[in-house]
Amino acid sequence: MLNESVIHVKGIGEKFCQQLVDMGIETIEDLMFHFPHRYDSYEIKPLSELIHDEKVTIEGEVIGEPSLTFFGKRKSRLVVQLQVEQVVVKAVMFNRAFAKKQLNQGDAVTMTGKWDQHRLQITVSHYKKGTAKSETSIQPIYPLKGSVTNQQLKKAIRTALNQYGEYIQELLPDQYLLEYKLPNRTQALKQMHFPTSFQALKHAKRRFTYEEFLLFQLKMQWIRKRTKEATVGNSQTYDQHKVQSFISSLPFPLTNAQDRSLREILDDMKSPYRMNRLLQGDVGSGKTAVAAICMYASITCGKQAALMVPTEILAEQHYQSLLDMFDGLAEVVLLTGSVKGKKRREVLEKIQEQKADIVIGTHALIQDEVVFKDLGMVIVDEQHRFGVNQRRILRDKGLMPDVLFMTATPIPRTLAISTFGDMDVSQIDEMPQGRKQVDTYWVKDNMFDRVLKFIEKEVDNGHQAYVICPLIEESDKLDIQNAVDLFTNLQHYFEPTIHVGLMHGRLQVEEKDEVMKQFASNDIQVLVSTTVVEVGVNVPNATVMVIYDAERFGLSQLHQLRGRVGRGASQSYCILIADPKGEVGKERMKIMTETTNGFELSEQDLQLRGPGDFFGKKQSGLPEFKVADVVHDYRALETARKDAHQLVNSGALETDPAYEKLNQLLTEDHILSGTLLD
Ligand code: ADP
Ligand code: MG
Repeated sequence: MLNESVIHVKGIGEKFCQQLVDMGIETIEDLMFHFPHRYDSYEIKPLSELIHDEKVTIEGEVIGEPSLTFFGKRKSRLVVQLQVEQVVVKAVMFNRAFAKKQLNQGDAVTMTGKWDQHRLQITVSHYKKGTAKSETSIQPIYPLKGSVTNQQLKKAIRTALNQYGEYIQELLPDQYLLEYKLPNRTQALKQMHFPTSFQALKHAKRRFTYEEFLLFQLKMQWIRKRTKEATVGNSQTYDQHKVQSFISSLPFPLTNAQDRSLREILDDMKSPYRMNRLLQGDVGSGKTAVAAICMYASITCGKQAALMVPTEILAEQHYQSLLDMFDGLAEVVLLTGSVKGKKRREVLEKIQEQKADIVIGTHALIQDEVVFKDLGMVIVDEQHRFGVNQRRILRDKGLMPDVLFMTATPIPRTLAISTFGDMDVSQIDEMPQGRKQVDTYWVKDNMFDRVLKFIEKEVDNGHQAYVICPLIEESDKLDIQNAVDLFTNLQHYFEPTIHVGLMHGRLQVEEKDEVMKQFASNDIQVLVSTTVVEVGVNVPNATVMVIYDAERFGLSQLHQLRGRVGRGASQSYCILIADPKGEVGKERMKIMTETTNGFELSEQDLQLRGPGDFFGKKQSGLPEFKVADVVHDYRALETARKDAHQLVNSGALETDPAYEKLNQLLTEDHILSGTLLD
């Protein structure tokens, strides 16, 4: 019933129906679950409690004659003086000339609109004559599109709820409703749209939050269980001795955190199930070293291993360092978009015949033409940069290797464990000894001259600097233009004694290489770049990282960029040039100057920005919840996770009739897409 078209709802005609479809509302259920994104309430507050720039409702008495001014034919501005408490407030109404006749001296009126604290003025969006009395009506405000109005939508939803309310089915077992004191689904749905009080609205939200989390967690846990069952037999019995002597051959002892993570990964490899693990660790914490050991372990049991990275620069860097590391132990090959022609055919052949043990590459690695003979292990570096699709391809190729995702953008542990219910998480939360912390400063635009002087001084001492360009979100092209402009300016300033280089995403691969090489060999001292240097690049002699428009970057991204310096023995500096307007922006810059721990930063970033921004839209693999918020409703998420775990693993879901509805939903596909395994 509820999955029929909205056209059946009384009062919805062809045209409105089409408009709704354009908004993504096709079925009656879609309509019922199109929740308000906020609520307006007409609660009257004392003037002293009104907040500047917010929507408020005031009550007062009209004093004097309203004054009306016309601009052109249709546009007008009506100013009404109101006495509110003991104060005169100006109410401004645009294009409502007719109101002049309705508002006479001495009339009581209730007006809602945007409050200007400085001018004691309200810009009216809504008014009615008379006092508000005890009216505390809470008005739903819906996300809209096209020419559909809030009023129309409200009416349609009210009608739908009346007409079809009886078909709304409860999903949650009584046991949970009772235990958590949640309203039933029908009640909750009505309260979401037409709350009778804020208290009732809160309970309705609580109910849907739990419902969303429980469904999500059930799906995750269910997938996890199924994947495990489906991969029995995937066990890599590596050669412990060889692995141990490989570890001993490294030029450094592993840190405790590296050692712990390594054990966790090796245990997964040995286990009869497929590994699906996330390895988190700050830039420079030694993830790559751990990855290398794991790849080696895989080779000792006769398998191949692949390391997939997001950029060619990074692929080549890894390739070079792994070549050294595996000298004589394994055949390492590189496969990126720029390996072409005969060379490419050779590499592909080596992979197919398992002459190559370790393959390093970009996403070129997962293209059709690449055929592995016996792939045991895949490591995906900077996993958040890989789309869900790319991960799916691997699976669709019929490959069931152990998979390790690595990231230097730590997902706060709490979030990682509870949202990625299908992944295990290891953390390298400790740096190798002797690392110096990068000193971070936040300066305003007008200090750029001093920043340049500072760079000059560092270069005079034999060091190098990165200057990251202003960021223009709308266009990659403009970003590059910015980079070019800045490059020209700095050339004027620094040349001929100091050489300036330019790096951006549109350069040819050979050009990028050439620039990086020159920077690595200190033929270039100052490298102007877009964010392409963000990941992985390693030039230990660089000690200065200057970031323009720092307020436009996420904290985690800033931290990544900062991680390009501080890789050598000398003290390094990160200079953030930013002029953030809001408090949050200032707070973020401050956090950057105070915190060098990536995990801590990511927690704070998450708190400040919310998970959507944190992960960067769809890329995250995080489902989009309608009501729930993974940060603020964290406790509900934990509860749902435990409940889901219990339901899935006890088998109750399939056998107990109380869970029939849930079980049905799980097997339907449409509920939650976009999880990591999809
Ligand atoms: P990540 O991949 O986490 O950014 P890497 O594995 O590239 O870090 O390590 C960064 C640098 O630290 C490399 O030069 C590496 O050789 C070195 N390194 C890694 N582990 C250790 C360790 N346990 N002790 C000292 N140096 C280490
Ligand atoms: Mg790395």
